[in-house]
Parts: sequence; C-alpha cells; structure tokens
Amino acid sequence: MNKPEYKKFFDLKGLIANIKDYSPEFNQEKFEKAFEFAEEAHTGQLRKDGTTPYITHPVKVTEILAEMHSDEDILIAALLHDVPEDTHKTLAEIEDKFGRDVAFLVDGITKFSKVQYKNNMPQREVESLKKLLLHSIQDPRVILIKLADRLHNMRTLHNIEKPEKRLRIAKETLEIYVPIANLLGIQYLRMELQELCFKYLLPKEYEELRVKIEQQQQDHRKALSEFVHILEQSFKENGINGEIFERKRNLYNIYKKITSEGKTISDVENRIAVRILVDKLSSCYQALGIIHGKFMAKTDKLKDYIANPKANGYKSLHTSVFGHGGYLTQVQIRTREMNIQVEYGVAEHLLRNEVEKLSQDERSAWVNKISELDQYAKKSGEFLENLKLDIFEDRILVYTPEGKGVDLPKGAAVIDFAYAIDPALGNRACGAEINGKTVLITKVLKSGDIVKVLASKTSSAELFWLSFAKTNFAKNQIKIHLKHTSKDRRMHEGARFLQKEFDIASLGVVANMNFKKISEAIGDNFEYSYNNIEDVLVAIGQGDLKAVDVVKSIKKDAKEGRKSGMIKVIVKIVAKNRFGLLRDVSEVLYRNASDMSYLKGYTAHSEEDAYFTAKILVKDIASVGKTFDELVQIEGVKDVYRVSNKGLILTYIFGTITAFLWILHPLLLKMQDQNPWVLNIVLFCLFLSVILVMNVVKKYFPYIRKKLLLWAITFSLPVLSLLILLIEIFYFNLQLNWTSLLIEIAIIYTYLGISFFQFRKRI
Ligand code: MN
Repeated sequence: MNKPEYKKFFDLKGLIANIKDYSPEFNQEKFEKAFEFAEEAHTGQLRKDGTTPYITHPVKVTEILAEMHSDEDILIAALLHDVPEDTHKTLAEIEDKFGRDVAFLVDGITKFSKVQYKNNMPQREVESLKKLLLHSIQDPRVILIKLADRLHNMRTLHNIEKPEKRLRIAKETLEIYVPIANLLGIQYLRMELQELCFKYLLPKEYEELRVKIEQQQQDHRKALSEFVHILEQSFKENGINGEIFERKRNLYNIYKKITSEGKTISDVENRIAVRILVDKLSSCYQALGIIHGKFMAKTDKLKDYIANPKANGYKSLHTSVFGHGGYLTQVQIRTREMNIQVEYGVAEHLLRNEVEKLSQDERSAWVNKISELDQYAKKSGEFLENLKLDIFEDRILVYTPEGKGVDLPKGAAVIDFAYAIDPALGNRACGAEINGKTVLITKVLKSGDIVKVLASKTSSAELFWLSFAKTNFAKNQIKIHLKHTSKDRRMHEGARFLQKEFDIASLGVVANMNFKKISEAIGDNFEYSYNNIEDVLVAIGQGDLKAVDVVKSIKKDAKEGRKSGMIKVIVKIVAKNRFGLLRDVSEVLYRNASDMSYLKGYTAHSEEDAYFTAKILVKDIASVGKTFDELVQIEGVKDVYRVSNKGLILTYIFGTITAFLWILHPLLLKMQDQNPWVLNIVLFCLFLSVILVMNVVKKYFPYIRKKLLLWAITFSLPVLSLLILLIEIFYFNLQLNWTSLLIEIAIIYTYLGISFFQFRKRI
C-alpha cells in the first residue's frame, strides 16, 4: 500500500512504528484501511505546489498529531479529514467504515459546501468555524486536528501563489488559531504558528529580527556557556538534577513588545534567554536561590507563576539576572512535569494516555461559551467579532473575596467582573473594593486583583457603562436592563448622550439639527432606519445605537470626517477642589491621550472650584468621548467640555465687528445727514452680530450655553445699544425713521424670545 512514488513525500511505515511505540495496542489494520480509503479518494489531486500528491497533507497532519501521542480516533480522522470536503466520497461512507466517533471528528473539520454559500464565502468561513467550535464542545479532539491541519498548511504556505491569499490565511491564523492554541495552552504549536504568521505578514521585519537575534546569540555564546557552567557545578553540589539550555526566543512577541514601546528592531537589547528544567517543585525554588546567590538579580523581574499560575495554566518561575559579561539573562525555571503542561497544554492528556480527561480540562472550558456567543450575535460577522473580543483576547484572572477565580479579557472593568459573577449583581453595582481600596465601577482590572463588588438597592445599570464594559456578555446584560426602563428615561438619556457627542464634535445643539440631515447620515451607515428623532434618541438611550457613531456618520456625510490622523483637543474641566484631584485628572488624561502639550489648573482664592485646561492629542473622535466619560467619573468633577478653536475664532471675529461698528458709529452718525438709512443699517448689523455671537457661543461653548448669564447678556446688549442710541438721538437731535427702527427691534426680540423658550424646553 505504500506506493514507491510516495517515498520522497512521506514515510508511512516510520509513522506507524512511531505510533506503535507509544501505543502498542493501536489498530494498525484500521489505520492502513483509512490511509487506503483517503489515498483512493484523493487520487489525482495535487497540493498547491503542483507536484506533491494531495495525500501527503493528511499524512503530515497525522504525523504532527502522533508527535503529541494522539489516540487512534484522532489519527484516523486526521487521515480522512479532507475527504468529504474535497472528494466524491461522503461522510456517510466514513461513518459506515470507521465508526461514528471518527465521522464526528471529520465532520467537525469539514467546512460547509461551497455551493451552499456560493454568494457569501466569508459567511461560509464563519459558519464553518462555528461548526468546528460547536463540535469541539462535544469532543475537544476536533480542535486539535484542526490546529495540526492549520500548522501543516502554514508550513507549506509558500506554495500558494497568490500573495493576497497567503496574507489572508496568515492573518486568519494569527487572529483565530494562534489564540485557540494559546487558550488550550499548547505553547509549542502557538509559537510555531505565530512565527510563521509573522514571517508572511511582515516578511521584512521578520527577517531583520531573525538575523539580529541570531547575531546576538553568536555574540553572547561565550557568556552563556560560562553561565551554564557555573550553574551546573552549583546544581551538582546541591544535588539538583537540572538541565540548563538556551531557550528559543519568540520573535513575534519580541517584535510586538518593541513596537508597543515605540522602538525599532535595531534597539533590541542583547539578552540571554535560558530555561532550566528540574525534577521536583522544591528544586525550582532551590535553583532560584542559587542563581540569585551567584548573580545580581533585577528585582522587578521576579515572577512566581508557580504560586500564581496564568489564566491558561502556565506555571514557571521567572527571573532576570545580570549574568556573565553583564548580559541581562532571563531565566525560566520549572519542573519537567510543568514543562509538559506548558508545552502541550490540553494535549498533555494525550501524552499521558488519558484522553477522557481532555473534556474536563479547564483549558477547554472556553468552548462552552461559544453557544452563548452564538445566541447573542445577530449576524455572522458579529459572532466572529465577539469571539475575538470575549474569548481570544489576552486573558486576566481576577478573584472574588472567597477566592473564586474569574477569567476575563484584558482591559475588562469592574462592571465586567460583576456581570460575570451574576447579572443581578451587575445591575446593582455601584463600586468595588480592589485589594481593600475603594474604586469606581469603571476601573480596569489587573490579573490577580481581589475584587469585592459593592452593590446598592438604589443604583442600576447606566447607559455610560456600555463604554466601559469590555465583554459582550456585560454589554448585552446592560442593554437588557436599559430596555426595561421607561421610554421617557431612555429618550432623555439618549438626548443627553447625543448632545455630549455633538458638543465634542462642535455640531451645536441637537434640537437645532434637522432630522432629515441626521436620518440621511444614519441611513447610509446603519441597517435600521428611524422614523423620527425620538426613535433615534430612544435607540441611543437603550444602547442599540452609539451616539458617537451618529456623530461620525454626520461628519462623514459632511465630508469632514477625518479618515486617519490624530485629533487635537482642548479640554476644560470644572470640578469641586479636593486633595488628589489634579493627580486623578492627569492620570485619566495620561492614559487616554497619545500626547499632552499642556495641563493648566487654577483655583480662585474665594472659590472652592478648580478649573483645568489641557491640550491633548487623541487617536479618534470616539476616544475623545471615552476620555470625557472617564473624566466625568472622577469624584468632584462637575463639567467637562471641549474648547473649540473654531468657536473661539468666530467669537473673536464677530466680537471685533461689533466693536468696530461701535467705534465707527459717530462717523456714521454724521453720514446720516446725507442718507437717513445708514443708521438703520448700522443698527441692524449691530443686532445681527449680537445674535451671531450668541449662536456661536451656543454651538461651541456648551458650558456657557447652560448658563442663564448667556441669555441675560444677549437680551441686555440690544437694550444697552438702544439706550445709547436714544441718548445720541436726543443729544444730536437726529431725525430718524421711527417706524423702521421699531420694526427692527420687534424682529430681534421676537427671535431672541423664541429661541430662548425653545432652548428652555430642551433643558
Ligand atoms: Mn486539510
């Protein structure tokens, strides 16, 4: 059955011998039958390089799985995994010949038919992924086969001719299969997949970094062997059975780290990375003690992941010391047992020949959340987004005061934690105690935090929580709660939120924007259409529509939308002064802004209010809103608003015109003798500029808009100018057209009156 022409592609006999080595009772006959079945089905098919027979691929996938000591079902399913999708043979035949378990595994990996989704291939991908994950809930072995399949495809990715297809596959691997390998704790798979993705997605950077690290390894070779020599001797003296070796460095992680710190590849420091494997737990700490005794430790780098394992079960001691030659030497110490756990993750059960433990492993538990995600997602695209966000993102492990661990994505806030424990607790949350210190409900959590959620009968979920909640679970729960509040309240909250975003974007008063403009802008960008402004406000108020998205689409419609690039924002903050206020304010600004060119604060002696002005650089309009939300959360902060440069300039222009007219008016009064209309026109211009200034202030200075003082000034300015005018009329004994003057005054005050009452109605 092992045709001679296959010799140069794979060695089936060798593979079978390897399997028999770890599993003597393995059914060789059934395995060979599966090979023949697959070989026949794939006859005539070639891999993408145009010369390799297709059957090579399933055999290589089986080889990868045999390396982790997979059981018979997995190995046979791996041989058959591409049969139903790519050949005329069906799943029914597989079930008939190889049993239900094998057929179930193969089915989990088989994508939905191309015919069924011929108009929507991305949806086929998502639905197939969903099927894979749902099958994995029942049998976690499915996902192991898929990972091996993907690993072999990535190893042979260079054979795919179209560069865009190579990129698509590499990107998908990085976004979906690397996180899966990570969640399952299979580090050796994760690392190879990640490195291959890096190589195809950023070839130039990959090559540069690879060469650089190789060069470094050459440079520190002598220092390393000296370091190893010293430790080996000490280990021997202390009776520790330890192996010390240079560890393969994760190039992608190094790259991610340097770019996040704004450095380049040439800045990568020459470091030595070492791993030490010992026999027993106590030897780990003993070895650590020896290293710290021999070399100077960099104290902040000591991490005990044995006492506090990572969310994916990772266990090791980490330390960094200044080793021989002054090189910073990063050391990982673990037992050989832990090393198997770390390298193989859930696959350690295969290695130990305990397949039945696979489905009880906590590292597989995340697949159970898949059906829940599926339930909430309305569209396929949403499912994928939720999957990436709720499951694949880097995890943190946070504890209840009773010591129960809660696994959350990095960046999750107290709200997420509260909802994860119990939705009822989430809805009533009003704050929390982290490690004994009282914090806001919006506080972002760190791994290892012990969080006690504080609840109150009077508090309930608020709309602004949505911008702080990270998990879709919490977001959905908040939305469900909001939908139970009165329509009036939702509308009011929606209006408040939209106004806030309008002010940030300097779009003026929501009530002044006509609905047609809003609905046209929304219509193009959202799937729902709204009949009136109330509908829009309610949708915002219950979290179905984001105020910032409405603003974005209006701006895009007006062709003002900035596609990329940073936004400069001047923020003004009014707060009740207290000790620590400046620290809290600057902390929020520092965290959200990419740059801050100044931060000024002052308090008037008599006042207890403090005012801050900051000029910050943020990445987009949505982050402005988030920064504002966070600032408002700070204890004592009363108001946060954006100072608009455009508003300042317009106020300045209209103010200058007004002043100019006043200065010039004696001259104009003289001209009056020649033309009696001059005075009327000047007067009209004066009134007009007052109204313009008022409107500019209303649009660009939300803080002043709320004050009645603005209206008092607007109303009194025309009165004041009239008074002066009357004095002048009598003093100079002017001849005026009283009728036209009265009409002008009437028009202006009617206008002011109407806009005042409209405005009052809104607030
Ligand atoms: Mn395949």
